[in-house]
Amino acid sequence: MKKLLILGAGTGGTIMANKMRQVLERDEWEITIVDQHRTHYYQPGFLFIPFGKYSKRDVVKPKSNFFPIGINFIIEEIERIEGEKNQVLLKNGKALRYDFLIIATGTRIVPDETPGLKDELWRKNVFDFYTIEGATALADFFKTWQGGNLVLNIADMPIKCPVAPLEFVFYADAFFTERGMRDKVNIKYVTPLSGAFTKPRAAKILGGMLEDKNIQIVPDFYIEKVDNNRKVLVSYDEKEVPFDVLVTVPVHKGDTLIDRSGVGDEMGFVKVDKFTMQSNGFRNIFVIGDAGNFPTSKAGSVVHFQADVLTENLMCAIENRPFTAAYDGHSNCYIETGFGKGALIDFNYDTEPLPGLFPLPGIGPFGLLKETRMNHYGKLMFRWIYWHILLKGKEMPIDSKMTMAGKKLE
Ligand SMILES: Cc1cc2nc3c(=O)[nH]c(=O)nc-3n(C[C@H](O)[C@H](O)[C@H](O)COP(=O)(O)OP(=O)(O)OC[C@H]3O[C@@H](n4cnc5c(N)ncnc54)[C@H](O)[C@@H]3O)c2cc1C
Repeated sequence: MKKLLILGAGTGGTIMANKMRQVLERDEWEITIVDQHRTHYYQPGFLFIPFGKYSKRDVVKPKSNFFPIGINFIIEEIERIEGEKNQVLLKNGKALRYDFLIIATGTRIVPDETPGLKDELWRKNVFDFYTIEGATALADFFKTWQGGNLVLNIADMPIKCPVAPLEFVFYADAFFTERGMRDKVNIKYVTPLSGAFTKPRAAKILGGMLEDKNIQIVPDFYIEKVDNNRKVLVSYDEKEVPFDVLVTVPVHKGDTLIDRSGVGDEMGFVKVDKFTMQSNGFRNIFVIGDAGNFPTSKAGSVVHFQADVLTENLMCAIENRPFTAAYDGHSNCYIETGFGKGALIDFNYDTEPLPGLFPLPGIGPFGLLKETRMNHYGKLMFRWIYWHILLKGKEMPIDSKMTMAGKKLE
């Protein structure tokens, strides 16, 4: 039997296990997927936990619910990839051989990278919402908080879902307004970027929304440390931002196994061809999702679009044909803006998010870079789509390539 090995059973690994089982002959190919955890988290749902809209049980399911029949699932930590030997070593000392390998080990937050972040105020007045533990601790904190300076800080880029921190402050504005205490909460959005988002037109529109919601943006802030005694953020150029509660989006890196395997860049993201999805070092190693150094968002939508391309290109590699698919950097994200509304962005490597309409047969169109109720429903509906369609590798009526249909250029 030939062997396809998938590292990581999160969004990308699970989708690829489903898609590849559909196209590879069962009597010729064995598919194995490895992950250190049994539980699958619906990460976009973490946003709603601090505000009591979701709880932990709304975002977790066993990973094994989503694998097709005919897959081996190994629960173990991966130690390293030995590309020259076509094998992967597990923490328990076992070696797994492969003919083709997919790396889907995602990214992790590294709060220890910022001095003082994980100090005495951690999970007392300093929280993250990128982990289930952080999001649930913050939910408990907000239950009794009386108000003060709420500071959201992005430590560095890239981060998962670059609009999630914006969604957090938009949602906080609505949450404290609905509780009748918005006048007691001063919300600041502190970012290393020079505006609200990475791309200029979206930055202008989203920056306008921050202003309308009385959320102060502090741009170009490169955090050096958190002073726990004085409760202030300090930047490298000695700017200071005081806080009563700090919500951090810490530095993101690839898993340490990528460093140990010698296939990553300085942040531990796997070096990959951004179009073909083949790793730079090895012709039989491919990468999907947050684990790769793709110059696009680290987002579930990206993983979804990449999965179509990877399925096609992996079959090309297996059958010794030239690649026929190319990933164009397509990314698509709902942005929850509070009060039952949301916005939407859609872009790729070459086209920045533009205003207009996003057509979706049978459901849409959705407004681009515009607050609408429909976008909010899209965001909520997405959880069902994620569990029932996306993870199982079923077809969705959205092209993996970005389309200009509905977008306004002027
Ligand atoms: C707060 C938040 C909000 C978000 N909102 C959105 C959104 O609105 N829209 C959107 O599109 N995306 C959103 N995302 C991003 C999205 O969830 C991720 O981009 C997506 O899940 C990435 O999938 P992946 O397969 O690359 O990685 P993951 O799904 O994270 O999977 C990686 C897997 O690899 C395993 N792994 C890693 N290292 C090892 C090892 N050494 N040994 C064994 N196993 C290992 C992990 O346990 C994990 O299961 C959000 C993320 C967060 C945190």
